[in-house]
Amino acid sequence: MNFAITVLGSGSRGNAILVHNAGNAILVDAGFSRKALLEKLSAAGINPCIIRALLISHEHGDHVDGVRLFSDELGIPAYLTMKTAASLEETGKLGKKKVLFETGSVFDIGGFQIRPFAVPHDAIDPVGFVISSGDARAGIATDLGHINSLCMQRLKDCDALILESNHDVEMQNRSDRNMRLKRRVLGKHGHLSNEDAINSFEELVTERTKYVFLVHLSSDCNEYELVLRTARAKLDGLGRPDVKLIIVCQDKASETIWI
Ligand SMILES: [Zn+2]
Ligand SMILES: [Zn+2]
Repeated sequence: MNFAITVLGSGSRGNAILVHNAGNAILVDAGFSRKALLEKLSAAGINPCIIRALLISHEHGDHVDGVRLFSDELGIPAYLTMKTAASLEETGKLGKKKVLFETGSVFDIGGFQIRPFAVPHDAIDPVGFVISSGDARAGIATDLGHINSLCMQRLKDCDALILESNHDVEMQNRSDRNMRLKRRVLGKHGHLSNEDAINSFEELVTERTKYVFLVHLSSDCNEYELVLRTARAKLDGLGRPDVKLIIVCQDKASETIWI
């Protein structure tokens, strides 16, 4: 066992994923208030003092709303791209400590190797992450309109895959959302449908993949049971009933998985 993953919550009202071992942790996105983050960490039995970095995927509020206060209070630097940093500085959402990274580079935080990669999403410079430590590797992409070949390449063959499964296309079309929002969500730079997420298992889930977390479920255009049922059927159909599937809710932390 190399490191653990706990998704503290995920959806359009907040996202935060903790990657941790006994002595070090990285928080991927901080889209809850400082208070909510501290409560979630405490409920998961994690001492916030072990968090070495806030790794920021993009500037949307559901990923960054807690960054400034959490970072300043605990003295934790935010790691992000130059463009994302500029955008957060403009809106006053970045704390005092920041470390810039370049998409495509590899860097180390507390024994974790981080490899950010570009994702197609309607933000200024959005990224997903591959995080490795020891023999274990986790691939994370929470907001993306489609899985292009670079994303496929990066997310493939991880021990744990953490992937958006945002909406059911039919529920999205039937919803009373306005056309502009529907077009945005369904577009190539919007959010990933259940169908696209689940079909990607054919390529992404390899022999080494043991865990799949599906995250960022829409509260009004998706259903927990629907995602669970279709994703499970897909994995079973691929001859992988052994892969553990974790569907993450907005307000409840996932179980902690060691990989
Ligand atoms: Zn977003
Ligand atoms: Zn989001």
